[in-house]
Amino acid sequence: LTSASTRSALHVIHIAAEMAPVAKVGGLGDVVTGLGKALQKKGHLVEIILPKYDCMQYDLIHNLRALDVEVESYFDGQLYKNKIWIGTVEGLPVYFVEPYHPDKFFWRGQFYGENDDFKRFSFFSRAALELLLQAGKKPDIIHCHDWQTAFVAPLYWDLYASKGLNSARICFTCHNFEYQGTAPAPELASCGLDVYQLNRPDRMQDNSAHDRINAVKGAVVFSNIVTTVSPTYAQEVRSPEGGRGLHSTLNSHSKKFIGILNGIDTDTWNPSTDSRIEVQYNSSDLQGKAANKQALRRRLGLLLSDSTRPLVACQQFLIAAISSFLVEQIGCITRLVPQKGVHLIRHAIYRTIELGGQFVLLGSSPVHHIQREFEGIASQFQNDDNVRLILKYDELLSRSIYAASDIFIIPSIFEPCGLTQMIAMRYGAIPIARKTGGLNDSVFDVDDETIPPEFRNGFTFLSPDEQGFNGALDRAIQYYKNDRESWEHLVQKVMNMDFSWESSAEQYEELYVKSVTRARAAKRA
Ligand code: ADP
Repeated sequence: LTSASTRSALHVIHIAAEMAPVAKVGGLGDVVTGLGKALQKKGHLVEIILPKYDCMQYDLIHNLRALDVEVESYFDGQLYKNKIWIGTVEGLPVYFVEPYHPDKFFWRGQFYGENDDFKRFSFFSRAALELLLQAGKKPDIIHCHDWQTAFVAPLYWDLYASKGLNSARICFTCHNFEYQGTAPAPELASCGLDVYQLNRPDRMQDNSAHDRINAVKGAVVFSNIVTTVSPTYAQEVRSPEGGRGLHSTLNSHSKKFIGILNGIDTDTWNPSTDSRIEVQYNSSDLQGKAANKQALRRRLGLLLSDSTRPLVACQQFLIAAISSFLVEQIGCITRLVPQKGVHLIRHAIYRTIELGGQFVLLGSSPVHHIQREFEGIASQFQNDDNVRLILKYDELLSRSIYAASDIFIIPSIFEPCGLTQMIAMRYGAIPIARKTGGLNDSVFDVDDETIPPEFRNGFTFLSPDEQGFNGALDRAIQYYKNDRESWEHLVQKVMNMDFSWESSAEQYEELYVKSVTRARAAKRA
């Protein structure tokens, strides 16, 4: 950063489909809020634009009110009015777009999973830009996220820059290349983009189905800055296996593409102030963690005081290993999708029992057969003393599980960044993670002598099979049972590690400033 550029605050607009805690499905929601707050703290003006969903947590939006103006935006050959609401979420100003469209785009009782998702979010992307234009805003950066708002990049450069909304550079962050937002090419015309111009191999045409448009590809091609959420994942997606068809596009645009590890919002995720857990605690007073372990056991009807069992938790599944009593509590909290290694999560339940631990899983699945399979396992264990599966999305319970777990599993097949390992460590749960994507950039094996000791913080494995996983779980449980003092030191160490947004937000700031400075210099020349 040049000293001149650090002095001038940037105006940054995030256009996104999620924002924690009001509209959150997964990590995307956490990132929009966490990065937004961190940039605001650095003195930048940060504003967010979200759809006004019916299923948001309205009680967490402060001072929500409708603005007098209505914004008209184009869709499918017509103009539609949008009511614009404004409110504050976690200290950030947020605009909510409510379309007056007969299809009631965001009035569906769920965020995603509708047949017309492509249409709903291309509508939203255009309405958000229309809002900026009509409000006369002159942002320096428009930051869009994932396929839902990827349309912003081509819309901005093809339509809006010439209408006068031309002050901004476009930054696109892909949180998961598995989801690319493809549709038959003619559908792109609905939001006013020119299908004939864009359905080309060097623009928005899907790399494998040539009669389809790919929204994420469009954002990669048209944005000034393209990021993904960890350095390792940024490497992985440039290979044919990792890129899900987009590796060649990413390689041709590699100069503007970089991986920045996400942080977590350390104000929200803080066991010493978290009023939603049973007892607050910190790294120099782990008694509180023990109390949370007991409280979760009581709440879930798990065996209370067999003092030799760890609780293993996973955020989609909570295998929490609770260290105060020698029963390890293993936790897992996760969306139950193939990416997360569901077969290893299932295996972990049985292996934990064999090894004498307790396992808690909190997770839900949009995939019907996976949800049914886990419902079967949940009912098999419904009266068991040591295993509990809770198959829903429940943020409050997730906090209790993080606080109660001794060990937390993240056995993902691939993982762009992963936040649960960082939250788990903040709450003193030791991660067991597969070495992939952002897990590879944040979890370092306690036995890996190539890693400086101060960074070693968990147990890792490479091979995505039962044997690979057992290697890490068995070591973790041995460690927990055999060397209590070292375990406690490890817990204290991981709780004190810095997973805040501080340094990641600085990297985004640097990218923004460079891009803005370059554009201004080019304009002057
Ligand atoms: P992804 O974005 O792929 O779902 P991340 O690890 O990046 O995975 O982020 C997951 C976020 O969602 C974390 O904040 C985690 O605590 C939360 N989460 C996942 N499943 C659940 C659930 N069933 N209940 C509550 N929170 C959940």
